[in-house]
Amino acid sequence: MVARVAIDLGLDRLFDYSVPVELEKKLAVGQLLFVPFGRRTARGFAMELLPDPPAGSKPDYDLKPVSAIADETPFFSSAMLELAKKIAAYTASPLENVLKSAVPASVARQLSRDKTLFFVEPAQEPPAAALPKRQQWLYGQIVRLGGGWMAQLCRELETSPATVKALADKGFVSIEPRRKRRDPFAGRKLLPSSPLKLNASQAKALEAIVSAPEKPFRPVLLHGVTGSGKTEVYLQAIAAELKLGRGAIVLVPEIALTPQTVQRFASRFGDTVAVLHSALSDGERHDEWHRIRSGEARVVVGPRSAVFAPVRDLGLIVVDEEHEPGYKQDESPRYNARDVAVVRGSIEGAKVVLGSATPSLESWMNAKRGKYALATIPERAGKGTLPGVAIVDMSAPENRGRIFSAQLLDAIRARLERAEQTILFLNRRGFSRALACPSCGYTSTCDACGIPYTYHKADDCLRCHVCGRWAPAPSVCPECGGSLKHKGFGTQKAELTLSSMFKGARILRMDLDSTSRKFSHDDILGAFRRHEADILVGTQMIAKGLDFPNVTLVGVLNADSSLYMPDFRAAERTFQLLSQVCGRAGRAELPGEAYIQTYDPDSSVIRAASRGDYASFAEEELAERKAAGFPPYCHYSSVNIRSKDPALASGWAEMYAKSLSKIDGLSVGEAVPGFLEKADGWYRWRVSVRCVKISALVNAWRWLLKVRRPPAALKAALDVDAFSPL
Ligand code: ADP
Ligand code: ZN
Repeated sequence: MVARVAIDLGLDRLFDYSVPVELEKKLAVGQLLFVPFGRRTARGFAMELLPDPPAGSKPDYDLKPVSAIADETPFFSSAMLELAKKIAAYTASPLENVLKSAVPASVARQLSRDKTLFFVEPAQEPPAAALPKRQQWLYGQIVRLGGGWMAQLCRELETSPATVKALADKGFVSIEPRRKRRDPFAGRKLLPSSPLKLNASQAKALEAIVSAPEKPFRPVLLHGVTGSGKTEVYLQAIAAELKLGRGAIVLVPEIALTPQTVQRFASRFGDTVAVLHSALSDGERHDEWHRIRSGEARVVVGPRSAVFAPVRDLGLIVVDEEHEPGYKQDESPRYNARDVAVVRGSIEGAKVVLGSATPSLESWMNAKRGKYALATIPERAGKGTLPGVAIVDMSAPENRGRIFSAQLLDAIRARLERAEQTILFLNRRGFSRALACPSCGYTSTCDACGIPYTYHKADDCLRCHVCGRWAPAPSVCPECGGSLKHKGFGTQKAELTLSSMFKGARILRMDLDSTSRKFSHDDILGAFRRHEADILVGTQMIAKGLDFPNVTLVGVLNADSSLYMPDFRAAERTFQLLSQVCGRAGRAELPGEAYIQTYDPDSSVIRAASRGDYASFAEEELAERKAAGFPPYCHYSSVNIRSKDPALASGWAEMYAKSLSKIDGLSVGEAVPGFLEKADGWYRWRVSVRCVKISALVNAWRWLLKVRRPPAALKAALDVDAFSPL
């Protein structure tokens, strides 16, 4: 017997090994194997088992034998292998890259299981001794968290085991070895929740999902306005599958994967929920994965990679916020987890639900064509109502150049007086957009990326939001010595301006800069939920999924920033963003209100978003896409070229454009510099390709890579169904 093995080398080929007689009975497809590779031993997955010698092999072939089976339980079922092969074919990626995405690295490396770990708990009765300030604080934090695993606590509280041990020596906490799974939510208490009585639209949606026949396979698009109770429908659909002894996967965008979201599932289903989160440690991820494969965990909640979770008897896949670009992986394999969910569902006979308040036009089109079933929840669940939305013209003389219009300020003031809460949204972090000199025109710019630095007030420095480079902020113009001025504004400046206008108002800011620690996300949102702050200022991090009953006002400070992006999806993204943001207001008894500040108050996209009118937005946008020949009327893909040598990048981009344009069935654009022409020192070029059949493009590209292999100094990649312009 011969085993054909995928080894993680990214070479886009499999390797054959002979199977020693003593392994023949045990060896199975999907297993992790040890194989000799060069002078070392490598790990690889058994993809196929063939008779010896394989058909077409040379007569003098001489195969090395498989060294050992690393784990007899296969990592991939045959259905999962079929899925992986389909993704590799569709995205023109090496199969081994797909396998690598599908199994967490810590699992493939076989980190020890059931490790003995140390659990820290506050002592029943702490001694009355006084503690140094730092230890006092640490003790308070451990009490607040209710204890936790040593390694996790140290990471979270930015302390060392030695410091925790010092607390234990004084009797404030206990440290015990425990052989238990590493639970990412250890120490956090969950209140069990029971199913709510569904309203009529929710009940109809649930019925459409649970009664979906296995054949013909038809995913359900659940179009429900924000706060319409989609999550409750997911929960009850999952419960129905669990009753039948089947498992479920819930995909949520990474950004929405807050403890708040996870808790809604954990509260309903308890320990059978496994969470796959990018902030998990390797060990935690390893343990969760094995809990899923063993069948101990039946419900998986996670970001895009969770679509590959080895759930047995998969009954249902939910893709929440299915329109989110975060489902697309931007490195090889460039898959979209939403589409993978649909393919996996069809292979494994599982139901698939795609949920959104603002479906992607691709999914909307599939529903219109009857490929997907459509379920609609037009109104908010429970007591909430959709907010009234006002458009504010920032080009009016009284508003020009301001961060906050008079109308919005009045509305904020009214909230402060009534002890209600406000969320303000702004798509830029930092203090100002740029630091520039009005007299000579100088702008401080990142050399590696060619874009202006963003000024950050907290540490008085300039940061590049593309590559992360930073520099101290100059006090005068380095060119002419004149004084520098801030252009535009970011969340930091908005926060500062607010606090000077509303003395005594409690303001929180949430953006990438304020949420670098593991649970600071949770901390900020928790504080806001407990009404320890009146105003939350933030970037798109706050736009999604959050449900705060006391928020009655939402302000979008600058709605135009996404509308004029050079992207055919700019209108769609703007509509989605505005609907999501405005949807944060009035989620409970108190009615909500939203203000959208814009310099383009007549924009039909902004107007439709303010009315919450998805259908008319979709109709108008589809007509434009059709006329211009964009998805969902075709596939839009992109060949992305990068090199540190500008001439090499442009030359190869032009060559690829020319070669592809000769192929039937492809409509190829000219080679153009990327949206960011340069990032982190790399020059970027792209060639857009539109086609009706993806296979035509993938075949052409695979052939082109063979005949025109990119040199080492050049990176060329095909991004099938590209999301953002490079
Ligand atoms: P979505 O996921 O569509 O944004 P959620 O599931 O977050 O909406 O629901 C919004 C709020 O409505 C939540 O607080 C939820 O508990 C509540 N809710 C959902 N369904 C019902 C129902 N049938 N009856 C009462 N309240 C409900
Ligand atoms: Zn940069």
